[in-house]
Amino acid sequence: MKNIPIYQPLLAGNESRYVNECLDSGWISSRGEFVERFESTFSKYVGVDHASSVSNGTVALHLALVALNIGPGDEVIVPTFTYVASVNTIIQAGAKPVFVDSLRDTWQMDPEGVARKITSNTKAVMAVHLYGQACDMNALCLLCNENELLLIEDCAEAFGTYYDGKHVGVFGDIATFSFFGNKTITTGEGGMVTSNKQEVHDRVSHLKSQGVSSTREYWHDELAYNYRMTNICAAIGLAQLEQADNILVRKRQVAEWYKEYLHDLPVSVHVEQDNSRHSYWMCSILVEQADCRQFLRDYLKEHKVDTRPLFPLVHTMPHCKVNESFPNAAYISERGFNLPSYPSLMEVDIIYITGLIKDFFGQKQ
Ligand SMILES: *Cc1c(COP(=O)(O)O)cnc(C)c1O
Repeated sequence: MKNIPIYQPLLAGNESRYVNECLDSGWISSRGEFVERFESTFSKYVGVDHASSVSNGTVALHLALVALNIGPGDEVIVPTFTYVASVNTIIQAGAKPVFVDSLRDTWQMDPEGVARKITSNTKAVMAVHLYGQACDMNALCLLCNENELLLIEDCAEAFGTYYDGKHVGVFGDIATFSFFGNKTITTGEGGMVTSNKQEVHDRVSHLKSQGVSSTREYWHDELAYNYRMTNICAAIGLAQLEQADNILVRKRQVAEWYKEYLHDLPVSVHVEQDNSRHSYWMCSILVEQADCRQFLRDYLKEHKVDTRPLFPLVHTMPHCKVNESFPNAAYISERGFNLPSYPSLMEVDIIYITGLIKDFFGQKQ
């Protein structure tokens, strides 16, 4: 019986060749030709004017918030059903996260919930495109325009996700991506900040590089950071981008197999919306009964199939605790988990995994 992990990056292109070019040339730090090549190829792929590489997806979010001058006294509306980094960076920027519920069908932030949480202190909305699906960007853009709010898109889980024919990340004022090892394209650790606005991009570039003056050496004109990506990571990223379409096709195929083989079981697979293209970062399912989730996950684990629960709600964590309830987010978070979702999975693997799920429900009856 072989082990099936939750994720495994596909590094079958020019990754090692490009990394070796860095080693051979000595350009292993954050200067070198791959950094600019990765950034310009990435911005073309997404269809955005500017892209600035950073060391991970969390600092990308922090940088985005700081570049938009979000800080003490400001409120940022964010879903409670998200990865913790979306919320932590709001707090780290000195602002206050204000939580909203999610939609039952798409699992994305509820625009009506956002509308209800707008106050005179609201500065921005953080739209997190979760698990490869897109948020309702028509509704969120309209709300932000009407209320003069900034819109930040956390696209960490949505590389290859399209909404109304456009790649996510082009709808708001600024967007961020993550290239962690289990993200759709990876640089090991890494991230990107994108924007269509020149002045926002200039702020991002300045802040990620210690706020150094462009005219005077070792002169730093504001409090800033070292959030730069290395040339080695960018080399991996460029090779990954060359493979991006192939990776996305394979991941879609994996999701289609899951849908086919899970068809008549009491689980529901995350649905693709009509006006968007799911990138299937993860193949996520919900079980009908929340208390059966752990039994099913344990059963799969016994057979060496690794899974991950969907994110617990951030507003219940000690450092973010608020006394509110978000019923849709709770429903999804308690029932959902991710199945192995990597691009090199074969149909026999999916038949094996879904066969175990069939066995599990058979045994229970
Ligand atoms: C992965 C992820 C991040 C953080 O990215 P890192 O590269 O791990 O720092 C932020 N937001 C979401 C939604 C993520 O999934």
